[in-house]
Amino acid sequence: MRIEKAKRIEQIPPYLFAEIDKKKEEMRQKGVDLIDLGIGDPDLPTPKLIIERLKRAAENPRNHRYPSYEGMIEFRRAVAQWYQRRFRVSLDPEREVFSLIGSKEGIAHIPLAFVNPGDFVLVPSPGYPVYRVSTIFAGGIPYFLPLRKENGFLPKLSEVPEEVAEKAKLLFINYPNNPTAAVAERPFFEEVVAFARRYEIIVCHDAAYSEIAFNGYRPVSFLEAEGAKEVGIEFHSLSKTFNMTGWRIGFAVGHSEIVSGLGRVKTNIDSGLFQAIQEAGTEALNRLDTPLPEIIKIYERRRDVMVKGLREIGLEVDWPKASFYLWIQVPRGYSSTQFATLLLEQGGIVATPGNGFGDDGEGYIRMALTVDETKLREAIERLKRIKF
Ligand SMILES: *Cc1c(COP(=O)(O)O)cnc(C)c1O
Repeated sequence: MRIEKAKRIEQIPPYLFAEIDKKKEEMRQKGVDLIDLGIGDPDLPTPKLIIERLKRAAENPRNHRYPSYEGMIEFRRAVAQWYQRRFRVSLDPEREVFSLIGSKEGIAHIPLAFVNPGDFVLVPSPGYPVYRVSTIFAGGIPYFLPLRKENGFLPKLSEVPEEVAEKAKLLFINYPNNPTAAVAERPFFEEVVAFARRYEIIVCHDAAYSEIAFNGYRPVSFLEAEGAKEVGIEFHSLSKTFNMTGWRIGFAVGHSEIVSGLGRVKTNIDSGLFQAIQEAGTEALNRLDTPLPEIIKIYERRRDVMVKGLREIGLEVDWPKASFYLWIQVPRGYSSTQFATLLLEQGGIVATPGNGFGDDGEGYIRMALTVDETKLREAIERLKRIKF
């Protein structure tokens, strides 16, 4: 029997990291000590308090049964209270908060709730690959919004053709941004609200990095913009905030009908989030101050080592105000892949080619600050020895 994949699978854009992955494996086989700056996954442990709460919650038989679809009310209340403290935004925990099995899960499912085949979805390029894939899975057509340095890596909504805007159903945005590390302020979000109102587009703001910010900077929530809750929702995650990527806990907040539309899809796919994890997440949101100072201090030191080092070598990179990424321009004469390959072959350093996040990421590589300072210093030493 021939096993034929569905068209939607064939439509997924080619995996652009395959070549780098292969080379990485080759080098590892040869015993090269790789420094992997390619992974957007915190290396630091989850705070003790959260782990202890999970242990206790795991013992409770009440938590061994199916959880509710929308999440425990205690968790949703903790989310609403955190939003109030952190962003001065009021949310109704019953109607405007929904638990997610990580925010990626919510992002992957939201188009199924609102996109009909042939609808446009506005997707940033470069951007988190899930926006475009989830659009394709729902039969939608991604329309890419280029994020350019001269615009602070914010999309220019005025450049979206009228006929596209009119047929667009969703708009994905993400600040602090992966991969560019750019941040957005309230005036931009207000522009987004006006645009969304005008064309009746649902805004999905991915705020996964809102609590990874440096030197006292505090990223704003999309929902702080006037009228935002009438046009959109915001995705959050405990993954980056509390070093909990493996736990799979996040949430969506905002417009009650958008939240419930997503919930409608989810009730037919998953059965909610292990309650012990929700209890631990409740503890985290209620008891810990975000951004978590201990984590931020470590990322700040790593950032300083890397940005200074990269600039000494002559590479162009901005000081990020937020996120744990560095978005580095490749030297003249190289493509993203060529430069990433050079760093790998000659320095054993893994960086992600920017074009893997979309065509408009060409000309950049991304490095993640998710390895310790000693290794980062070593990475800079190795980079100094590479001729480019
Ligand atoms: C890491 C990340 C997420 C989500 O992660 P989850 O672990 O699924 O919550 C979402 N968006 C972006 C841009 C990310 O980098």
